[in-house]
Amino acid sequence: MTKRDYYDILGTDKNADKKEIKKAYRKLALKYHPDKNPSKDAEEKFKEISEAYAVLYDDEKRRMYDQYGHSGIYQQFSQEDIFRGADFSDIFRGMGFDFGMGGGFEDIFERFFGRRTGFNGRSVRIRGADLQYNMEISLENAYNGYKTEIKIPRAERCDECNGTGAGTVDSIKTCPQCGGTGQVRNSRRTAFGMFTQVTVCNRCQGGGKIIETPCKKCRGRGRIQVSRNIEIKIPGGVDDGSQLRLAGEGEAGQGENGDLYIQIHVKPHRDFERRGADLYTLKKINLPDAALGTKIEVNTIDGKTGTLKIPEGTQNGTIFKIKGKGMPYLHGRGYGDLFVTVEITTPRNLSRRAKKLLEELREEL
Ligand SMILES: [Zn+2]
Ligand SMILES: [Zn+2]
Repeated sequence: MTKRDYYDILGTDKNADKKEIKKAYRKLALKYHPDKNPSKDAEEKFKEISEAYAVLYDDEKRRMYDQYGHSGIYQQFSQEDIFRGADFSDIFRGMGFDFGMGGGFEDIFERFFGRRTGFNGRSVRIRGADLQYNMEISLENAYNGYKTEIKIPRAERCDECNGTGAGTVDSIKTCPQCGGTGQVRNSRRTAFGMFTQVTVCNRCQGGGKIIETPCKKCRGRGRIQVSRNIEIKIPGGVDDGSQLRLAGEGEAGQGENGDLYIQIHVKPHRDFERRGADLYTLKKINLPDAALGTKIEVNTIDGKTGTLKIPEGTQNGTIFKIKGKGMPYLHGRGYGDLFVTVEITTPRNLSRRAKKLLEELREEL
């Protein structure tokens, strides 16, 4: 999956100052904020612009990005760290959006990424893990597009307890150890006075609730391991190394599901070499055909056979173009071209007559 350039995303210049970056983000945020924009991709778009803003508005992250690109950012910062420190509340204040308490980065992070790692265990909602699946396809499949079903082992929300892990609704009880606060205070008297330490309750892991009778199906885990058949549609034109993202088809978590990434490997083809949307193939013709001209048959990737006219006097290594017989452009209209390189074969193991004719030819030439 290729990431778009952060400057392009915000539509700003590489030399833009912080004021300009903020202004550009504010404008886009107004347009794509999911509360304002009901279109399906608004949330994705909003995440994208928010990430670009969070990086470019921070001097250190911006320097890192300018120098090393996206990989510099992802190696150095977790997704949460990318957003940390960016002042969103300042931007959303007055825009009339509900971002919960203050509109700080945690609220934005929680809302769009479904995960928050605060001290207060109650707000921790861990997003399910992303899964990756490697799929090998033929060049023909990459040409036509490909529909298949794959089996993915993954954790899903337990349907018996709806993910709570509880056998019955009544078996969810307030944690007796912390009284439902999720925190435990330990006070110690020391020479310097009373010393109080607050820790996350270890009985309920900060959730404030415990389960008396766990769900039998998932043994209280809230999730079960299943092997799920998923239909995959690979669009025509995919290239080796393309990645498809199936949002929400990863593992179930306490928050939103992870995503499933399909990594596409296109197998090398016996007859065709691919360069972008163009295909290259090699055709052998014999010496007389090259000299006198002929018509040859060329198999194309669409499974058909076309005729290629070889004009007289064709030299070894000549490349002919068959228009529109390459690969389709991904998400675009049209096709690349097929290039046929002609290789002239010199006749061998000549019969007596052939030898004589060639000798005559040599004399003539
Ligand atoms: Zn269950
Ligand atoms: Zn507790």
